Amino acid sequence: MRSAVVCLMLAVGTLLGAQAPPKAAPPKAMRLYVFDCGVLAITNIGVERYHVTTTEVGETRMPVPCFLVAHPKGTLMWDVGVIPDDDVEKAGGAHYDVNPTAAAVVTRTLRSQLAAIGYRPADITYVAVSHAHKDHTANLNQFAGATWLTPRAEREFMWKPNNERVEPRFFSALEKSKWVPLDKDEYDVFGDGQAIIKAAPGHTPGHQVLVLNLASTGRVMVAGDLYHYPPEREFRRPPPDNEFNVQQSAASRARIEEYLKATKASIWIEHEWAANAKLKKAPQYYE
Ligand SMILES: [Zn+2]
Repeated sequence: MRSAVVCLMLAVGTLLGAQAPPKAAPPKAMRLYVFDCGVLAITNIGVERYHVTTTEVGETRMPVPCFLVAHPKGTLMWDVGVIPDDDVEKAGGAHYDVNPTAAAVVTRTLRSQLAAIGYRPADITYVAVSHAHKDHTANLNQFAGATWLTPRAEREFMWKPNNERVEPRFFSALEKSKWVPLDKDEYDVFGDGQAIIKAAPGHTPGHQVLVLNLASTGRVMVAGDLYHYPPEREFRRPPPDNEFNVQQSAASRARIEEYLKATKASIWIEHEWAANAKLKKAPQYYE
């Protein structure tokens, strides 16, 4: 009788497990998870926009990563992809032209990758994007229940009429979300200095980067679109002409380079192909 009950409990447990993976417990130390949110194919004109040549760049494609910071006191989602999960699920792998020079392909949903490590979008405490361009915001609506961390200028940019650089249907639900206006150089997300959102405007009015102080990995800057291809940084090329504010971008790059030197943080260029290929992907993580 007792073994029958145990068998039944195991069977029920297996069934439940198949439906919903166990909810993740808060980690003891802060973790960083990297997800595959797609790939952008960039035309030659698109590459040259960054004041680099296709030869200098080598691999012209760009990865689209998404990130989850799991901290003992909560979670932060950082950048949320280029095609909404619902579209990816419908099409079983979806295509989307971000603009005439960038074509996106996405084969995996963000929510399936979150579920595999025990998180649902509804569980997330904070959401932030490096900036509001289409390839960083596709799944924002899923995180409307989180507290949104954004500079006021970026929020205004998002709902500016006829703004072709954003896709309002990606983030319509955030209009009613609880939000914290980030109006200083730095914002300490969990209050212990381990996750800092740092202003780096220019690419967009409120472009920002994320600095994580990971116990084993050390200090990492997830740099949004401060750069796209490594030769822009290596050869100190000027920012693209279509930045929201080219001068402000150049000033942010200079300031961030000083900061990287002073803090010995390593920079992760989100769209850098070779670096992304080497990153541990979820369910693995950095800590
Ligand atoms: Zn981008």
